[in-house]
Amino acid sequence: MSRNLYDLIGLAAGICFILALKGLSSPKSARRGNLIGAVGATVATVIVFFYANEGKALNNQTLILAAIAFGTLVGVPAARKVQMTQMPQLVALFNGVGGGAAALVAIVEYLKLGDTASTAVVIATVFTVIVGCVSFSGSIVTFLKLQEIMTTRPVIFPLGRQIIALTLIGVLVSGGWVISAGGTTPLLVNGLLSLLFGVLFVLPVGGADVPIVISLLNAFTGLTVAASGYVLQTTLLIVAGTLVGASGTILTRLMADAMGRSLFGTLFGAFTAKAQASVGETEARPIKSGSPDDVAILLNYAQRVVIVPGFGLAVAQAQQTVRELADLLASKGVEVAYGIHPVAGRMPGHMNVLLAEANVPYEQLVEMEEINPTFPQTDVVLVVGANDVVNPAAKTTPGCPIYGMPILDVALAGNVIFLKRSMRPGFAGIENELLYETKTTLLFGDAKDSLTKVVSALKAL
Ligand code: NDP
Repeated sequence: MSRNLYDLIGLAAGICFILALKGLSSPKSARRGNLIGAVGATVATVIVFFYANEGKALNNQTLILAAIAFGTLVGVPAARKVQMTQMPQLVALFNGVGGGAAALVAIVEYLKLGDTASTAVVIATVFTVIVGCVSFSGSIVTFLKLQEIMTTRPVIFPLGRQIIALTLIGVLVSGGWVISAGGTTPLLVNGLLSLLFGVLFVLPVGGADVPIVISLLNAFTGLTVAASGYVLQTTLLIVAGTLVGASGTILTRLMADAMGRSLFGTLFGAFTAKAQASVGETEARPIKSGSPDDVAILLNYAQRVVIVPGFGLAVAQAQQTVRELADLLASKGVEVAYGIHPVAGRMPGHMNVLLAEANVPYEQLVEMEEINPTFPQTDVVLVVGANDVVNPAAKTTPGCPIYGMPILDVALAGNVIFLKRSMRPGFAGIENELLYETKTTLLFGDAKDSLTKVVSALKAL
């Protein structure tokens, strides 16, 4: 195969990636976008495998095939089995492995080139090793946090900021050492310090901010892949890596905005926070709990109901039942909408995906900015397994982990019903004052069971 044809097919795969991103920007076209991306990735892999070596197949084919088989054996069952609620952990893990692999490839290529490596290639190698190692070790720590293998709270330690700054200086100085002197030892020191920096940089991030860091590390992995594409002189890697880097950066910005955070505050806020809000206090204070019949009556006589889904809806897998309830209410002439917070659940777009699974029409899913002004005219808000995204502490308690995050202003509605199992707090681990308000009714139990009972009670009315 001629070099031109090889490049042309590579370009077609790159175009597939761009079309995939375009498709993923809307729920309606997301499935198609995903498929186009998968086709592009398959074409890219096949063409590299058979023709990358000056128009011939790659060397060490058996080893490569064994690695692909191993990756498939581990990756496919993991991706199939993973619960929707554990998706961020899986993304963190895959992302970390990607960054680590790109760093290893760059190291191998550097060692192969030896003294013949140009300065530009050495700089690209150092960049790949630093960012790839940070992405690898940082992603492993985020995985451990989200999987709750280690604490999800920020880990702060004495002189934390100074230690992190010193490690960063060590990373940059050892990077300079590789560029000026070359050789395996400086590269090794550089890699190890970068791994350490990745761990230190993620440890102080806690609670609700972890997903922002996953997205940031994902952008880092993209940049690493692009730089390793430069080292290997592979246009396709440069294109794919740049796309991941750019889209990851945009997603990081969007998520930080949705949580009302600056990136600096997300990464280092734990060292500067003056106060941490009360965490999961179980004070004995009066609350108003109700039965499914009470909730059915409230809903039956409402003119407008807003359903606010959250992480608990995903845990209970109650999306079909919530839709059944919404349809039933609509058939009784009640106006129903869903209020969607951008970070409800455990991944961006989590609620949209869940509700789409239950064929809830997209038009009924209303974004936070649009739904907020309608709460004063809403008779009942039904909060199904959500907590942080409706917690007024985000506005009233400076220093608490979600302070500054825009929330759904459900407290402005006539009545608020919470479906949850206990008085336990949400992901950020903070008490929600709204649970104690007089306009709030709590229906305790698994969201799916509770909704099923409410639907039966409504039918009987
Ligand atoms: P929260 O984690 O704040 O609250 C979830 C609620 O669901 C809890 O009150 C819990 O209470 C309840 N719950 C859990 N299981 C069930 C069940 N089976 N039936 C009924 N209720 C249940 O969720 P939100 O969606 O409000 O907020 C998301 C949080 O996650 C935010 O802090 C966000 O920053 C963070 N985050 C978001 C990501 C994203 O990109 N979307 C990614 C990672 C984190 P109880 O235990 O009493 O039942």
